[in-house]
Amino acid sequence: MDGQVTGPRVLLKYLREAMAEPIGPQERLDRIVQQIAAAMSAQVCSVYVRRADDILELFATFGLKAEAVHTSQLRVGQGLVGTIAAAGRPLNLSEAQKHPSFAYLPETGEEIYQSFLGVPMKRAGRPLGVLVVQTEDIKHFDAEEIEALETAAMVLSDLVASGDLKGLAQQGTQLDQSRPISLNGAAYSPGIGIGTVVLHELRVVVENLFGDDEETELHRLALAVTSLRASVDELVSRNVEDAGMADVGDHVDVLETYRMFAHDRGWVRRIEDAIRDGLTAEAATEKVSQENRTRLLRSSDPYLRERLNDFDDLSRRLMKQLMGASAIPLTEEEEFIVVARSMGAAELLDYDQHRIRGLVLEEAAATSHVVIVARALGIPVVSQVQGFVARAENGDALIVDGDDGSVHLRPVEDLSANYLERIEFRAEREARFDALRDKPAITIDGVDIDLLLNAGLTMDLPQLDHTGAVGIGLFRTELQFMISSRLPRMNEQERFYKSVLEAANGRPVTFRTVDIGGDKVLPYLRSAKEDNPALGWRAIRLSIDRPGLLRMQLRALLKAGIGHTLKIKLPMITTVTEIDQVRAMLDHEIEAQARFGHALPNEILLGSMIEVPQLLFQLDELMQKVDFVSVGSNDLFQFMAASDRTNAYLANRYSPLSRPFLRALREIVRAAERNNTSLQLCGELAGDRLSALALLGLGYRAISMPPASVGPIKEMIRSIDMAKISHMVNAAVDEPIGARTMRETLSDYADQHGIAV
Ligand code: PEP
Ligand code: MG
Repeated sequence: MDGQVTGPRVLLKYLREAMAEPIGPQERLDRIVQQIAAAMSAQVCSVYVRRADDILELFATFGLKAEAVHTSQLRVGQGLVGTIAAAGRPLNLSEAQKHPSFAYLPETGEEIYQSFLGVPMKRAGRPLGVLVVQTEDIKHFDAEEIEALETAAMVLSDLVASGDLKGLAQQGTQLDQSRPISLNGAAYSPGIGIGTVVLHELRVVVENLFGDDEETELHRLALAVTSLRASVDELVSRNVEDAGMADVGDHVDVLETYRMFAHDRGWVRRIEDAIRDGLTAEAATEKVSQENRTRLLRSSDPYLRERLNDFDDLSRRLMKQLMGASAIPLTEEEEFIVVARSMGAAELLDYDQHRIRGLVLEEAAATSHVVIVARALGIPVVSQVQGFVARAENGDALIVDGDDGSVHLRPVEDLSANYLERIEFRAEREARFDALRDKPAITIDGVDIDLLLNAGLTMDLPQLDHTGAVGIGLFRTELQFMISSRLPRMNEQERFYKSVLEAANGRPVTFRTVDIGGDKVLPYLRSAKEDNPALGWRAIRLSIDRPGLLRMQLRALLKAGIGHTLKIKLPMITTVTEIDQVRAMLDHEIEAQARFGHALPNEILLGSMIEVPQLLFQLDELMQKVDFVSVGSNDLFQFMAASDRTNAYLANRYSPLSRPFLRALREIVRAAERNNTSLQLCGELAGDRLSALALLGLGYRAISMPPASVGPIKEMIRSIDMAKISHMVNAAVDEPIGARTMRETLSDYADQHGIAV
C-alpha cells in the first residue's frame, strides 16, 4: 500500500465516491472496506453490524476470508469487537491476540494479523456496529489514524441507519432499528403515557456529511460560533446582573465556566480541522461532540464529566445555530414522550403541555427539579433507565408506566392494547372522582373532614379548583428556590406568595418556610457535604443560623399576606426554643412593617411541623407556643423507625400503619384536644385510603395530600360511619404488638363494610 495516501482527508474523498456510485449495498460496503484498508495502509478492514438480537455480524471485509462474511458473529461484549460495541470506545492494540478479550474465529483466517484498531459505529448515540482495521506487523495506530477511522465509522453508520443494509443480515435476523424493548427504571411520577419518542438532546441526523466547499463550511461555522458566543455572553451577563446578592457566587462561577468553554479555541479548532478533512460544519460538530462523549464515558472524575457535559450542551446549541429550524426535535406528533439523559426543569416547560404524555430519563433522581415539576404537571416519569437514549429514536412508539417504572419501546400490539385499556379504566375512575368535586367530604354520620392540598409550584394552583380541596395544607416554599437558578429576590418571593393566595381565593393556605439543606441542595448556596444530610443542617436549623434568608422570606410573606390570614409553619422543629427564636424574628419583621407604615395581614398564625420524635415529649409546651401544629408523617416516621425514607431496601420493612407509630399519632391528637390547638397532618399517609382511614379513626380531621388523592379519599370518607371507625381503630391500636397487623385489621373491616380502600 502507498503510505502517501493515508489520513482522513483522502479517506473521506474515497468514501464520498463510493457512496455516490450506483451500486448495490453489499458491493458498496465491499468497496468501502477496500478503500479504508488502502487509505490506512492496513491489510484488513472489516465491518461488523449490530443485529436486533445483539449479535455483531461480519457484513463486509477486505483481507479476511470472504466466506466469513455473514457467517462470523460475536455477541455484544464478546471478543474485541464485542468489547468495543459494549463500551462504545475504540480499542487500539499492537498485539491483538494478547488481549484477554481476544476471541479467535477460525473461519476468518485472522491469526496472521497482529495490530488491531476498532472503533464503534454510532448514529445519534445509538450503537450500530464496529469498524476494524488490522495489520500484519506490530504497530500502534496514532491519533490521526484513529481519527480517520472514526470519520469512516461515521459514514458507515449513516449507511446502516439509512436502512439500505436491511436485507443483508443473515437469514431470519433483522437489524436493530425495529425491535421492541422493555426496560425497568424507577417510577418517579405516577400515570401511564403512550406516545411518540421525542429525543430531548438534539439528536439531529446530519443529512449532509460531506462538504462541497471547505471555505463555505468554515464560514458557516464562524458565523454560528459568533452567534453562539453572543447568546452565551448574554445568558451569563443577564444572570450576573440579577445576582445582586450574596450566596450566588457558585452559580455565577458555573456560568462563567460555561462562557469560557464557548470561547475555547481548542474546541473550535477541532471542528475546523474536521471541516478541512472534508466534512460539513454540522458533521464536523457532531464528530467532535462524539469524541467528547467518548472521553466523558472514560472519565470517572465527576468534575471533568460535568465539564464535558458543558461541551456537549454547547455542541447542541451550535448544531441548532447551524441547522436552524430543521434541528428542532419532532413535535408535530399528536402525543409525545420526551426522552433525555437528564434535563432542567425549565426545559421541560418548553414542551407543549397539552401533548406531552411522559418523560423518560437516564440520570435524574427522585428529588431533582425536573421530576418535581413533572409530578406537579401530572406527567408520568420513569428515570434511571440505563442506556435508553441510545436505543430510542425520534418517532418510535413508546409506553411509559410511571406506576411500575417500566418503559416499552416499539411495543408489540398486545401490550399497547393492554395499556390502552388501563388508560381507559383510569379515565373512568377520574370521571367518578370529578363528579364528587363539589360535594363535601362528610361521613355518613355527619363528620366534616378538611381535605387539603400539598403544593409548591404555580402549576399546582389550578388543582385547588380541579380537586375541590378546601385549601392548601402544605405549601412547600423551597420548591421555588429549587427550580430557580439563583436565590429568588424578596419581591419575587412576595409576588409568588401573593399569586398563591389569590389563586386560593379565600381558601386557607399554610406556607411552610424553606425546608432546604439535606438532599434539597440549592446550587447557588454553598454547603458542606454531610454524612447524614437528613439529620443534618437543614430546614429550620439552617434558617436560624442564616437568619438573612428566613427574614427575607418572612418579610415577603407578611407583604403578600396583606388582606389575608397568613399561616406560616416551621419545618423540622426539634425543640420548642426554636419556636421562640423564630417568633422573635417574626415579631421583629412585623414591627418593622408597622414602623414603616405598611399594612399587615388580617391575622398571622404561626405553627410547627411535628417531624422529630423528640417533640412528642414536649407536646404540651409546644402547643402552648403555637397557633397550630401539623404532623409531617414522612419525616416523623423515618426518624421514629430510624429508616431512611428514600432507601428502597427499607421501603416495605416497617409500616407507618404499625401500632407504635399510630399510638404516637394518637398522642398528638389527644394533646391537641387538651390544649385546644388546631391540628392537621400532611405526609404521604394522608393520601393513601387505608392509612387515611386509620388517621380519621384516631381523630385527625384535617389532612393534606397530593392532588391526585383528593378524589379517592373523599369517596372513601363519604362511605364511612365515623363513630364505628373510631371505635374499631382505637381498639385495634390498643391490641398487643404481635397481634394481627393493623393493615390486615383495617383491610378486613373495609372489605366487610364495603369501604373502597
Ligand atoms: C413530611 O415530612 O411528612 C412532610 C410533609 O414534609 P416533606 O415531605 O416536605 O419533608
Ligand atoms: Mg418533612
